[in-house]
Amino acid sequence: MNLIEGQDLQKVYVTATGPLVALQDVSFSIRKGEFISLVGPSGCGKSTLLSLMGGLEQKTDGSLSLLGEQHEKPSRDIGMMFQTSVLFPWRTIRQNASLPGDVLKLDKTQQRKRVDELLEMVGLKGFEDRYPSELSGGMRQRVGLARLLAHDPAILLMDEPFGALDEFTRETMNLELLRIWEQTQKTVIFVTHNIGEAVFLSDRVFVMTPRPGRLEGIVEIDLPRP
Ligand code: ADP
Ligand code: ADP
Repeated sequence: MNLIEGQDLQKVYVTATGPLVALQDVSFSIRKGEFISLVGPSGCGKSTLLSLMGGLEQKTDGSLSLLGEQHEKPSRDIGMMFQTSVLFPWRTIRQNASLPGDVLKLDKTQQRKRVDELLEMVGLKGFEDRYPSELSGGMRQRVGLARLLAHDPAILLMDEPFGALDEFTRETMNLELLRIWEQTQKTVIFVTHNIGEAVFLSDRVFVMTPRPGRLEGIVEIDLPRP
């Protein structure tokens, strides 16, 4: 089943110096449960493509469907995570990870159970009542990872989620993500500029050209995972 489909997607930003073509003629389809990496040089439109899928930006032309429906507005089937997970300093770790559930007004008792399980899954058991200022950068991204999963989205859009972490922590987080992905059968779109990382993590790697970003190729990865 194709979960996400883009057809001749185009994105033009209007800027002070005129139109800027960020994406041109981008077509692809992504199946349920796939782990896709998006690679390409800085400025080629990786974040833009992710933002279109997440509903943060509107496409200029082409079509984009999600779960078989034309995609025009943000969907709660989607979770997004960025290089830095912004946490509210006055909220505890549990309260921060509970934000999506709060916003979506999910059942409080169920959410609390789920969030505590997620915090345990990302190695933060015992930190539920601590505050972000007490955590390292890697631990804050773990909170971001738990928060990403809190409302149980089918599609995870991750924009260099561990790119700001030291290499050791990044590799640990990558392995953790793979474990979560295998357990939960989410569909993951993972932006990185590290080709080694993309090959290590993915089922398929989408390679983009320098701006205006086109899909130059799709590489099937057939390596055993750890
Ligand atoms: P990448 O994630 O691959 O580094 P981006 O999607 O961030 O690339 O950017 C693609 C191009 O679009 C870049 O030239 C960038 O400057 C431009 N761009 C991105 N966001 C905006 C915006 N909101 N307004 C204007 N130009 C933008
Ligand atoms: P680099 O370009 O950083 O020298 P590699 O090609 O060795 O890297 O790895 C690129 C990335 O792939 C690593 O930073 C890491 O995120 C991921 N990776 C590679 N091997 C492993 C591994 N054994 N465990 C976890 N992550 C790995």
